[in-house]
Amino acid sequence: MYLVNDLEATCFEQHGVKDKNEIIEIGIVVCDKGGLPVMQFQSFVKPTINPRLSRFCKKLTGIKQDWVDLADPLDTVLNNFQSLFKSKFTAPLNEVPWTSYGTMDFLCLKNDCERRSLPLPFGHYVDLKKLFAAYSGFRNCGMLDCLKIEGLEIEGDSHRALSDAINASKVAKIFAPRIMAATIEDSPLHLPSVPGQVPVVRPDHTNDC
Ligand code: AMP
Ligand code: MG
Repeated sequence: MYLVNDLEATCFEQHGVKDKNEIIEIGIVVCDKGGLPVMQFQSFVKPTINPRLSRFCKKLTGIKQDWVDLADPLDTVLNNFQSLFKSKFTAPLNEVPWTSYGTMDFLCLKNDCERRSLPLPFGHYVDLKKLFAAYSGFRNCGMLDCLKIEGLEIEGDSHRALSDAINASKVAKIFAPRIMAATIEDSPLHLPSVPGQVPVVRPDHTNDC
């Protein structure tokens, strides 16, 4: 099995993953090894560095201030997911591979976990956007265009974690065996063993496909 995750985070007018982007919503689709969804999880997360959402962030995501005010902090939310996962599956969660459309989710989770001295809760990560680019030849394809290209139905609202994760899981199904085979070398932070090559953390491209 593998996980397809999507995160919403605090943000301001300028786009890009900065150290201070804190998770405000997590959406996870648990898929079996063939890519069929077997469980969904959604939770808001209370940000602590910048507890007030910017007007820009509320407009982009539709997430309201009181939804995050009333939410649990990240450690509790990850524990809640872990408990739920454990009640349904036998696989150790920290060995289950995961994916997301673009590396923002990986970097944001890593930063937020490090800031709170939490271990990364999942197994190896592989970037779905990178897999789709190699497969389709469209290098800078946003997720909605990717779904359109594949003739897959777009569900729910964009910039909401569970609907984004559900939509990403439809793309992920194409690559289920590859995601299942994710290794440390797929990590955006992996240092290649070939001298002279530098690790590339792919920036979030604008959609030009
Ligand atoms: P998404 O999964 O596309 O909804 O994006 C995840 C997070 O990235 C959002 O919750 C924002 O924190 C940030 N983000 C996405 N698009 C933008 C944008 N156009 N400007 C600034 N931040 C953005
Ligand atoms: Mg999203």
